[in-house]
Amino acid sequence: MKVIEILEQATGPLISYEIIPPRRGGSLEEVLAVVEALIPFDPPFIDVTSHAAEVEYEQLPDGTLRPRVKRKRPGTIGICAAIKSRFGVETVPHLLCRGFTREETEDALIELHYLGIQNVMALQGDSPNYRKPIPPDRTVNEYAVDLVQQIANMNRGIYLEPLEDAVPTDFCIGVAGYPEKHFEAPNLTWDILNLKRKIEAGAHYVTTQMFFDNRHYFRFVKRCREMGINVPIIPGLKILTSKRHLQLLPSRFHVEIPEALAAEVEAARPEHVPEIGIAWARRQAEELLEAGVPCIHFYIMLRADHVRAVVEYLRKIA
Ligand code: FAD
Repeated sequence: MKVIEILEQATGPLISYEIIPPRRGGSLEEVLAVVEALIPFDPPFIDVTSHAAEVEYEQLPDGTLRPRVKRKRPGTIGICAAIKSRFGVETVPHLLCRGFTREETEDALIELHYLGIQNVMALQGDSPNYRKPIPPDRTVNEYAVDLVQQIANMNRGIYLEPLEDAVPTDFCIGVAGYPEKHFEAPNLTWDILNLKRKIEAGAHYVTTQMFFDNRHYFRFVKRCREMGINVPIIPGLKILTSKRHLQLLPSRFHVEIPEALAAEVEAARPEHVPEIGIAWARRQAEELLEAGVPCIHFYIMLRADHVRAVVEYLRKIA
């Protein structure tokens, strides 16, 4: 089932999740155990992130550094297929522009189509510290809008090269939105114009970057509607669970931590920080659900315990 159909047919609040593949060599069972812990809460769909190759430097005995290029967290498509087949839960594999040629992307889309996975999230991808050399006869999508265009073309049976009797795919396409604007965009209006281009190219819904102050989300949705974006905009939430998050989340994701939350975390003993983050996320989620959001999407990495504490609470008060 497509995410857009799930949203349209929902009769109550939906809570979806986003997980990350384990590090290379890690266990699929670890991922499936996280999903299993979420099954009692009927996840409507689960996103699985994608990670391009990076370069790491290994120090040799003579002191020189040897670069090693590798994808630290491969396995997105396999994990999606495993979750769908073991639990019957819809999955949303993330696809990236950066680090993948359009030909590799077409292959991945064919793979997903054959696996019966009907949803994809189209993204530019984080800035890698490594740029894969691209053969002269290959091309790379630059912006997410280019990737959306490629997928929308395949949905019309248009592959990269003309193919006789090419079977059209049927993907529901999600894209990213930034309530506090994308860090490279000069202003929010510019960023929303680029978001609108992704919708016009064929995207069906938006999932937002995490935010800790709901006012950012409400303002963003209002501006999107004023600028003619009418698709569902799913708010993304993260539970702050460690003191380290106070620096890490703003620097990595370019989001603001409200003063009240930062002050509470700063004053707390480290072991009490998860309780503070859970209480904050409960309040955020409650307000968002009261406002009638289509779904709440939790970024959980590979941990189910904190989000369970939030979702159990939401179920109790529903
Ligand atoms: P785009 O929509 O391409 O936008 C990137 C920037 O370029 C923006 O500033 C935009 O305003 C600007 N822009 C867009 N189009 C144009 C244009 N035509 N001309 C000029 N400027 C333009 N990263 C990963 O590596 N793996 C993941 O799995 C992953 N999952 C994510 C999931 C969500 C829900 C979100 C919000 C982010 C995720 N990211 C992931 C991070 C994302 O890849 C980065 O934030 C990336 O920098 C931007 O991706 P995008 O798809 O929003 O890019």
